[in-house]
Amino acid sequence: LSASRDALTSVANRGELETQLAMMTSEFSQSDGTAAFSVMFTDVDFFKSINDTHGHTVGDRVLIDLAKHLQRESCAGERVARYGGEEFFTLCPDTRLEQAARRAERLRVSIERSSMGGLNETSFTASFGVAQAEPGDSVESILRRADKALYMAKESGRNCTFSLTNEELLAGVDQPEEDDDQSPDPFLFVNR
Ligand code: GH3
Ligand code: MG
Ligand code: MG
Repeated sequence: LSASRDALTSVANRGELETQLAMMTSEFSQSDGTAAFSVMFTDVDFFKSINDTHGHTVGDRVLIDLAKHLQRESCAGERVARYGGEEFFTLCPDTRLEQAARRAERLRVSIERSSMGGLNETSFTASFGVAQAEPGDSVESILRRADKALYMAKESGRNCTFSLTNEELLAGVDQPEEDDDQSPDPFLFVNR
């Protein structure tokens, strides 16, 4: 049992996340697209500075509180997992991208309004990347898309949510870098 749990936060660990995701991905590929699911990737903003300012023990408490918060605020059927350091995934069965992005936004706002690790005075925020399983996806490609969406959220200033489809990902890759200022952002901006 403990082999599937993260020792610090008690939520599912990365191995368990990948096992669950592999099952969902395989179910999805056999379902003609009916077993749609999405993933939310949560990463604490400027977590290193929380550690640097308040110490590693407080940082640990923040992670424990955040994991509890994510679990408490998640919908029925959703599973929260710690992916690494200050990064968490939430698996959302039967959830399409738009709905998952809305839930991520709600979570983001609730995190912004909560105190974690007893740091009442500190502004504590997290960024979100959201992706939905698409035909041809593997566990790796779903995680990569969510990670890319999260990266976009970080790039645009943090404390916001981005979602990304395969089509948008490919459109972004094809775009020459010089055109970035003139052309509209090919990625879907969800909220901030
Ligand atoms: P960004 O907004 O770009 O995400 O910046 P960040 O500081 O959150 O990101 P970065 O990846 O630079 O730092 C993550 C930090 O998380 C660095 C590492 O020391 C800390 N960390 C990783 N695991 C743990 C842990 O289990 N406990 C504590 N207290 N800190 C951890
Ligand atoms: Mg990180
Ligand atoms: Mg971070």
